[in-house]
Amino acid sequence: MRLPLSILLATLLLVATMAGGWWVDQRIAQMHARHVEVASGLERMVRLNQALAGMAMVAVLEENALRSASYETVHAELEATAKTIETLTRELALSDEVAPLAEPRRTLRSVEFAALTALRADDWSSARGRLFSEDYVLAKKIYEIEADAAVGTLSREMADAARRFDRLRAGSLAARAAAVLLLLWAGFSFSRRLAADLAEQARLREAVAAANRQLEDKVRERTAALEEANRQLEALSTTDALTGLANRRCFDQAWDAEWQRATRQGLPLAVAMLDVDEFKAYNDTLGHQAGDHCLQRVAQVLRATAQRAGELAARYGGEEFVVILPGLGPEEAGPLAERMRQIVQDLGIVHPKSGAPGVVTVSIGVATGLPQPGDFNRHLVEAADSALYEAKRQGRNRVVIAGAAC
Ligand code: GH3
Ligand code: MG
Ligand code: MG
Repeated sequence: MRLPLSILLATLLLVATMAGGWWVDQRIAQMHARHVEVASGLERMVRLNQALAGMAMVAVLEENALRSASYETVHAELEATAKTIETLTRELALSDEVAPLAEPRRTLRSVEFAALTALRADDWSSARGRLFSEDYVLAKKIYEIEADAAVGTLSREMADAARRFDRLRAGSLAARAAAVLLLLWAGFSFSRRLAADLAEQARLREAVAAANRQLEDKVRERTAALEEANRQLEALSTTDALTGLANRRCFDQAWDAEWQRATRQGLPLAVAMLDVDEFKAYNDTLGHQAGDHCLQRVAQVLRATAQRAGELAARYGGEEFVVILPGLGPEEAGPLAERMRQIVQDLGIVHPKSGAPGVVTVSIGVATGLPQPGDFNRHLVEAADSALYEAKRQGRNRVVIAGAAC
């Protein structure tokens, strides 16, 4: 976020007012020193003037020329002081009140010089006459009055100037205070905007996070639905729709897996092929729907019988079924197949066109073997099929066990 213009302006104003304030303070100090110089110079001028007059007067009264020896020195000092004050009043643009004093000063000095010259020539009466003349006393009085007036005027002007600078200083202080207030206000509003921006950013971040969470939930839901659909599809692709048993495709995969396991572990493997006897006649007599129902009941028997791990009952096609029996040799597989045949018969599904029992029966061909690496894994299935054919040939409703197929 960029620094707002108001803060920059306020800072600039503050710096400018501080610099201005410093300048005003310097000027005030300078002015004050000059004013003190002018005031003390003026007082000094009056004093020196009085001293000169006094010197001349004392010399005349005491009739001692030696006493006026320092007159020139003091006179030179008075002239120098007057010059300095003139320069300062010009520089400070004060009224030119000091310049008019030059003329009466010159008059006084010329009388005093004349008196001192007479004094040095031991002409006491002339010296006294000049210093006590009415003109000299009057000129001295006028000089003193004008000097007082000049001091008064200059003091007033200096006081005015001091007041002007005081106002300037007050203005500078007010501007500085205004700049500080402006800076505070700009900083406050900037921080408020910053806080609002941060809050908005946090709100947006939270909104994005919520949207992401929602999206993730949706993705999770969809993934779960997809996985469920896949599971269903997988089940459908491996299940026979009519009987709910594994279908031929599923049997093929399971058979390959069991064959490999038996080969690896050196275990026996058995397979039983079943075919419903005279089923065409059953269908023809009782109808296709009854035929379907019959197949479902036979399938239930097979499912209930093949329950051990690795065992699998599948619909091989039409009214033919197959059961994988891992780990069983002919001694176990034969009796199990016989049990299945018996249970189907015991279901007592009436079959008007069957042979002696008058109920639905199945023929079963069983093959067992000890699979070896490199053996053709369909040999056992083919052998079971041949045994089934043999069972049919021998009169149906029976179990035939194939000779060792591998
Ligand atoms: P066999 O004792 O020699 O096995 O004689 P069969 O009549 O059982 O054998 P065949 O192969 O002549 O007839 C099989 C019949 O099974 C023919 C067909 O209509 C019937 N069938 C096959 N699949 C289905 C099915 O899904 N439902 C029904 N209802 N009948 C089926
Ligand atoms: Mg058949
Ligand atoms: Mg049949």
